[in-house]
Amino acid sequence: MIKTKYKIQYKGNTRRYLVNDRWVTARGVPELREKQDQTDTQYLNSERGKIMEVINSIFLRYKHKKDRHKVWYPEVDKKELWLIIMNHIAYMKQKFPKSKGRLCFFCEKPWTYIRRKKGNGVRKLGSVVTTNFSIDRFDCEQTYKKGNIVCCCFACNARKGSSTKADWRTFIKREKELKKINEME
Ligand SMILES: [Zn+2]
Repeated sequence: MIKTKYKIQYKGNTRRYLVNDRWVTARGVPELREKQDQTDTQYLNSERGKIMEVINSIFLRYKHKKDRHKVWYPEVDKKELWLIIMNHIAYMKQKFPKSKGRLCFFCEKPWTYIRRKKGNGVRKLGSVVTTNFSIDRFDCEQTYKKGNIVCCCFACNARKGSSTKADWRTFIKREKELKKINEME
């Protein structure tokens, strides 16, 4: 807590400050507000902050969508999702000991957390940065649950899109067929 020149009073658990003859919360104290904004920016720029932003977006999507039938309600909570991501990193680090483990499950290339800046403000992690970290449902016909959550880059996530397991089987079947056709010629 940084010291301020203002008088302090407690109302329950909330600390109030006397600013220009008015009792306000920390947000009403210019110096504290500035400090808080700085801390927020630092957090948002840390890896934890960036991963949390992706996690939060999954839960927000559910909350904001009006037609809930079309939204995948996660069967894990935020803590479990965080652990799944940490386990993925540990797993990939074991698979590629020279890496930092922050690797896409599909293409096995390092993911990024690039925030596209606009002016001075901190902008949301841009989904347009194709190398950025994202969370995918392996089987898109199932929700976010243990065993169906994969950490990958945005490009792989988008590439996979809404294709189903049945689609992949079809693609592989047709690939074989195409090969045979080409061999016959
Ligand atoms: Zn990838």
